[in-house]
Amino acid sequence: MLNIIIAGPPGSGKGTLAKLMIDKFGFVHLSTGDMLRNEIGLGSPLGKEVESILARGDLVSDQIVISLIANNVKANPGARGFLFDGFPRTLPQAEALDDFLEKTGHPLKLMIQLEVDDAVCEMRLLRRGGIENRPDDMDVERVRHRLATYYAQTVPIIDHYKKQGKFIAVDSSKTPEYTLNQVSECLKPIL
Ligand code: AMP
Repeated sequence: MLNIIIAGPPGSGKGTLAKLMIDKFGFVHLSTGDMLRNEIGLGSPLGKEVESILARGDLVSDQIVISLIANNVKANPGARGFLFDGFPRTLPQAEALDDFLEKTGHPLKLMIQLEVDDAVCEMRLLRRGGIENRPDDMDVERVRHRLATYYAQTVPIIDHYKKQGKFIAVDSSKTPEYTLNQVSECLKPIL
């Protein structure tokens, strides 16, 4: 089983790449953002609890996303591997994921960082906000807040996985297919 994190700033193309990788390699896609939006759509107690947090572009608690991930991994025992998208976003989340995967006998293999300039992220997020009606991508202040949250809370996980020798970065400023080709080259030796 191959467990991989797709990371990068909001707007770097994580969700788009994840979908292409699922088609090509057959992994299970676990996006905490999608799970949380699903709860909000259902109007569940969890959805009600997190709705305003997502709208502001802040992070929900580590405990909430860690248990969402753990439940979804357990629910897919036959998976060829998991693509973690938008998770982990803090160091405690990364440590919890490492522990959890270690216990399953399939430790994390790789973190793939999608690299792209902030200006491109901003442009992509604002366009998506209009198309998908996402409140967290609707205006420039909220988008900048999401990017600032990323730099403050998520960037430290890069060093965490560099130290473990599990980090690669790819250029995500061009087309999704271009990004996928680079990722496929990196995965060749381990697939
Ligand atoms: P995303 O779709 O990954 O951009 O996530 C949308 C929003 O969901 C984020 O801005 C956060 O409010 C929340 N969220 C998603 N994943 C996490 C996470 N791993 N930790 C905390 N909050 C998260």
